[in-house]
Amino acid sequence: MQKSLALNVIILTAVASGPVPWEEGQERSHKLLLVSFDGFRWNYDQDVDTPNFDNLAKDGVKAKYITPPFVTMTSPSHFTTISGRWIEDHGVIHNMMFNTETLRKYSHKATQNKTEWWDNGVLPLWITAQNQGKKTASFHYPGGGANYSGQSVNRSLVEAFDHPDANETEWQENIDIVMNWFTQEDFDFVTLYYGEPDNVGHKFGPETENRKVIIQQIDRTIGYLTAAIEKYGLKDTLNVIITSDHGMTTVKKNPDVEEIFLAKHIKFSDLVKFDILDYGGFGMILPKPGKEEEIYQVLKNVHPHLKVYKKEEFPEDFHYAKHERVLPILLYGDPGYSVNGRLILYINKGDHGFDNKDSDMKTIFRAFGPSFKKDYLAEPFDSIHIYPLMCHLLGVQPEPNNGSLEFTLDMLNSAASGCFLLPIIVGVAIVAHLVVSI
Ligand SMILES: [Zn+2]
Repeated sequence: MQKSLALNVIILTAVASGPVPWEEGQERSHKLLLVSFDGFRWNYDQDVDTPNFDNLAKDGVKAKYITPPFVTMTSPSHFTTISGRWIEDHGVIHNMMFNTETLRKYSHKATQNKTEWWDNGVLPLWITAQNQGKKTASFHYPGGGANYSGQSVNRSLVEAFDHPDANETEWQENIDIVMNWFTQEDFDFVTLYYGEPDNVGHKFGPETENRKVIIQQIDRTIGYLTAAIEKYGLKDTLNVIITSDHGMTTVKKNPDVEEIFLAKHIKFSDLVKFDILDYGGFGMILPKPGKEEEIYQVLKNVHPHLKVYKKEEFPEDFHYAKHERVLPILLYGDPGYSVNGRLILYINKGDHGFDNKDSDMKTIFRAFGPSFKKDYLAEPFDSIHIYPLMCHLLGVQPEPNNGSLEFTLDMLNSAASGCFLLPIIVGVAIVAHLVVSI
């Protein structure tokens, strides 16, 4: 059986800021909590009362919005946040794990303990921090249940298949558990994940009362979190970043629009060996041998709102297609257009996975704590830059990454931004993939 091995040759033209030995009188690093509310579109707090989010903005930093990586999906985007690497570099290219030989597909939740899907040579921050003496934990955060280079996260709770997404009492209990990890067990870095408002966004659509209701529940949870930080005495020692993985847009359906439906145009049984379709706005096809050109030529013009690319021609600024796992033909719809394959069974009212330049795919960034300025509105930036910020806040030397502290340094107060002596040189990491068949 043929396997392929990707060797990443990383040529760094950037010198990332790195920690230097602590000096007398210098501020020490703080603890860090990263909270992710899945599918929280950048403007979800603008048409509903969110007093706790409002207080957070006064007490810390709010970015106008941030841009997730393409493809705007949960596992790929979360792993970019925790690794600072583009999706084509870290290799978690889809929510679903798949095998083009066995034709098996695994759901998002089924992948959570599957190290072979997550561990592609890029170390997430949990492991890097642990290797530098920090104690880290993941509470339901995607990727936290896998091993990386043989190492597991110090403590990891993985979501069960039947985990309820929207139980407010459980949300609060989880905050108390995390607070105890920080105070009683001296954890330094914890990632905490919630499956909302993504679930409600899919089920009911983003422009609905249901979505406003869940945003208010999240707002109350933010209030619970800030009160808990006071109660547990962590206000002066804990930095908090609240973010998300992508936005959400309303799915366009018949009869309002003509839906994308590939089986109208190609015969799957003759041309397609394997595909990842019927999963929202993005899809991939592995043609049968010799059939790639035929599929491409037919599909490229079938729908005015469908983009079809050969892998090698996929726009480079998505930083997506170079990974060996990406299949030879890629398709994505304009916002709201699902890529339907054999049948139109898709029932979601809202979805993501679309172009990350679309405003509905943008998401949130909030931060507060001893290292952050107060009442500071930050300009938009890419979520890939969260990683070097987290390393900086923790006093951890980053792995090679595609982010830069340049985009977030302004949001830190003088004590926090000045605690590193090395200059920050902005650069570009060039990652060349040598794919060698063995
Ligand atoms: Zn998500």
